[in-house]
Amino acid sequence: MSANPVVAYFSMEIALDPSVPTYAGGLGILAGDTLRSAADLGIPMVGVTLAHRRGYFHQVLDSQGRQSEEPVRWSIDDFAERLDTRIEIQVEDRPVRVAAWRYRMRGVGDFEVPVFLLDTELPENDAAARQLTDSLYGGDSRHRLCQEAVLGLAGLRMLRALGYDEIARFHLNEGHAALVIVGLVEESAAVDGGRTAAARLEAVRTRCVFTTHTPVPAGQDRFSRDLVARVLGESRCALLEICAGKSEINLTEIALSGSRFINGVAMRHGEISRGMFPSYPIHSITNGVHVRTWATPAIAQLYDRHLPDWPRDALCLRYAISIPLEEIWSAHREAKRALLAAVNRESNAGFDQDVFTLGLARRATAYKRLGLVFRDLERLRAIARAEGPLQIVLAGKAHPRDEDGKQIIQSIHRARDALRGDVAVAYLPNYDMSLARLLCGGSDVWLNTPIPPLEASGTSGMKAAVNGVPSLSILDGWWIEGHVEGMTGWAIRGDDAARGGAGGDEADAEALYRALAGAVMPCFYKQHEQFVRIMRYAIAINAAFFNSERMLWQYLHSAYHVELGVGTPV
Ligand SMILES: *Cc1c(COP(=O)(O)O)cnc(C)c1O
Repeated sequence: MSANPVVAYFSMEIALDPSVPTYAGGLGILAGDTLRSAADLGIPMVGVTLAHRRGYFHQVLDSQGRQSEEPVRWSIDDFAERLDTRIEIQVEDRPVRVAAWRYRMRGVGDFEVPVFLLDTELPENDAAARQLTDSLYGGDSRHRLCQEAVLGLAGLRMLRALGYDEIARFHLNEGHAALVIVGLVEESAAVDGGRTAAARLEAVRTRCVFTTHTPVPAGQDRFSRDLVARVLGESRCALLEICAGKSEINLTEIALSGSRFINGVAMRHGEISRGMFPSYPIHSITNGVHVRTWATPAIAQLYDRHLPDWPRDALCLRYAISIPLEEIWSAHREAKRALLAAVNRESNAGFDQDVFTLGLARRATAYKRLGLVFRDLERLRAIARAEGPLQIVLAGKAHPRDEDGKQIIQSIHRARDALRGDVAVAYLPNYDMSLARLLCGGSDVWLNTPIPPLEASGTSGMKAAVNGVPSLSILDGWWIEGHVEGMTGWAIRGDDAARGGAGGDEADAEALYRALAGAVMPCFYKQHEQFVRIMRYAIAINAAFFNSERMLWQYLHSAYHVELGVGTPV
């Protein structure tokens, strides 16, 4: 069952299924979790993204951690059905035909949210046009702008061609989707040519919601005016100049000026965004994760026994406070066994079930500082000698053109080799949704060490919380809200970081070692009951809040303001 959608959600990446490589990282995971919760709650939404027939990429690592990238072979027709509808848009002065596939996102009940994957791989298109929807974040800025034209302009036109003409809200997930606004302005020009472009933009604003994800100006999507004129044509370029300057067109600015409701993805990120764009009212709606997707089988069984309503009601995770500690521990042991089996299969690290296991995984890019824990190897050895054995498991892909990110992976491999015999380290290749669940659920503590305030939200720590795994993290993004020292986990460099100061690698590494040796490992090895109580708070306090169901309710209340109508199976 589905209903006439009231909200259309546009995102360059959407993590639909672990076997469908249409996402690169957190942005796509968030999009997928949002739509999964909409399907659970019966909220009539529709998703729009690109087909990405060659996926993001499959990461292969050699023994020294050198990354090579392989295209992902996946077959779209195993997952989605091809629709006959075709639409056409002008890109670079020629017509590009666009088709769509329908993926059905099914909720816990019988409700379903359709997601349309736009596809230009059609015989009637020229070779360049056929490649527009093949790989995610591939190619140069010209290619990216063309992809954004397909997402925003063709996406809107496709929805109309499929008969969706009463959509109340358009939700733009990050600036990549900003051209939806241009499409809406053009639609209104076609029915009411008399008004000025500025008046039409104002009318469109009431229908658009924009979620920004980047806390730094460098992360915004900007294109030169010349490129925009070449790809989109002069008349669109003129329209874009109204809201985004003359020499350079910043799609984040377009999305900001064309949206009535704008939000950042955590409390702190909202503040940072207001500082970057002081002329816009920017709210915060903190991200969340889809509980059923991220709970390991052992934890899901635990919830089935104690919180039978959990698949339909994430708030009831608050009642995890009544689950006996030994049952939480034994579910965790099972999740840890599954992770360690994978580690020992993939590597010769020889991980041990009884050893304290620190997990971390994220995109290997400079600001995430994936390798910070290895800054002082002698210190790590000393901690393992004094506090008890330690093993560390990591994963993460570097963007194919991110040389610094690739160097980080190699330096972690050198640290792994240097620590052999003292601290076991494993770097698992090809971080993806399945690996994320294994890692977040099976580690004893989840580590995150970004440079503040660059982690807009972060969601892997929330996936850990869903599995009762506490975080040890820099106070940035969601952790500023989720952290209660010694209760839901531990902060690295508490107070200074909370005030937003960057401590620098050396100070942050020092604080990390102090927290590990002074609080986290003693708790794990010497205060077992307290450790498991912290695990239980991670669920009851954090998983009960940092889930996509709560997030979607907030979007409904604060951002969408739509009547769901009688009979909507919420
Ligand atoms: C959850 C997830 C992310 C995002 O995690 P962060 O904590 O925001 O870095 C990235 N990649 C994959 C595969 C994930 O599952």
